[in-house]
Amino acid sequence: MTQDSHSEGLTTRILHADRRQGAEHGAVHKPIHTSSQYAYSDARELAAVFQGKPGFSYARQGTPTTAALESKLAIMEQGRASIVFSTGMAALAAMFTTLLKSGDHLISSQYVFGNTNSLFGSLRQLGIEVTLVDATDVEAVSAAIQPNTRMVFVETIANPGTQIADLAGIGRLAKENGLLYVIDSTLTSPWLFKARDVQASLVMHSLSKHIAGQAQALGGALIDTGLFDWFSYPNILDIYKSGDPAGWGLTQIKKKGLRDMGATLAAEPAHRIALGAETLALRLERACDNALALARMLQAHTAVDMVSYPGLAGHPQHERAKVLFGGRYGTLLSFAPISKVDCFDLLNRLKVAVLATHLGDTRTLCLPAAHTIYFEMGHQMRAQMGIADNLIRVSVGIEDEADLLHDFSSALTSCADGL
Ligand SMILES: *Cc1c(COP(=O)(O)O)cnc(C)c1O
Repeated sequence: MTQDSHSEGLTTRILHADRRQGAEHGAVHKPIHTSSQYAYSDARELAAVFQGKPGFSYARQGTPTTAALESKLAIMEQGRASIVFSTGMAALAAMFTTLLKSGDHLISSQYVFGNTNSLFGSLRQLGIEVTLVDATDVEAVSAAIQPNTRMVFVETIANPGTQIADLAGIGRLAKENGLLYVIDSTLTSPWLFKARDVQASLVMHSLSKHIAGQAQALGGALIDTGLFDWFSYPNILDIYKSGDPAGWGLTQIKKKGLRDMGATLAAEPAHRIALGAETLALRLERACDNALALARMLQAHTAVDMVSYPGLAGHPQHERAKVLFGGRYGTLLSFAPISKVDCFDLLNRLKVAVLATHLGDTRTLCLPAAHTIYFEMGHQMRAQMGIADNLIRVSVGIEDEADLLHDFSSALTSCADGL
């Protein structure tokens, strides 16, 4: 192999991104820029920046610190460019409302994050039609296509049921039909899954989860893979049709969705997210190994009725997950104890795992899914989504494996003994 054909891995690229782009004074981290505005000695330069020349004007549209994070995220997804937002939901809201308009049709997986599902209600009020389908089957997506369909939206590993969409099949379908293909890859992160490889148009991440990694900052991102033909997309406003058409989509999202709506990521959390990203691979490797070990232990336990984890051979999309995620299966699992065990009683006996919402943290987190994150949805919708009343969602962290297994097995055994 010649030196030129060597391509660097994910962690090397993240670690050296700031330095290679020339951070101030040779700093190895991009500094935290807190200035709200950026001044120019030449008024023509100031005007040029307002007219699209790369540069900074007012921090609502970004700072050198958020720009450094954006370029790191684009590197991580091998994409063309990226935009960051104050939260993952802000990124999704900006993306849907600026790329879709009244009369358009969106096809989404029925297995999506609860707040995304709730956001679809707001899109419907704006006159956007939303059809939910079982995206584990590409035929269901295909059957839902209408003349006004503009976009297909899916997640990689669904929460809490761990269903895995036919990500590659949907990519081919979207390409054949000229549809925007948007993948929320929060549960996989760029370490497990390359959205580019399945022809995604845009990749979304809640940076609050695996990428920040330690539950210490909120953020969201959209990355353009560069694979979509924005020139033919009917919803780009004339004012944003200048320069290379490959940039039109993100320009519109940035102007309408970030500048006008204002859900800007501040420099301080951007910095913390960038620091977290440096250890993404180390954390995920450990957490994925822990999750597999915990799933296997739970499956073998007599007080457990059901376990959902893509790493288990009996998972309906186990083979698909193996191919898509390179032999690792993520950090999220859900399980239901036998009906005689009360899920609250079980959770209250855990000593290591933390009773809290959120996922992708270094700590293991658990909650009773039907009574918390899916409470607002109601019983019928939960039943449709396969969320049992005693379902426990676990986001597995990086604790020592033996401690986690001991925590769950002793809680289960002591619950079952009490019966
Ligand atoms: C958490 C999450 C979001 C929303 O991200 P926030 O940063 O919490 O706003 C969106 N999608 C998925 C899959 C998530 O897990």
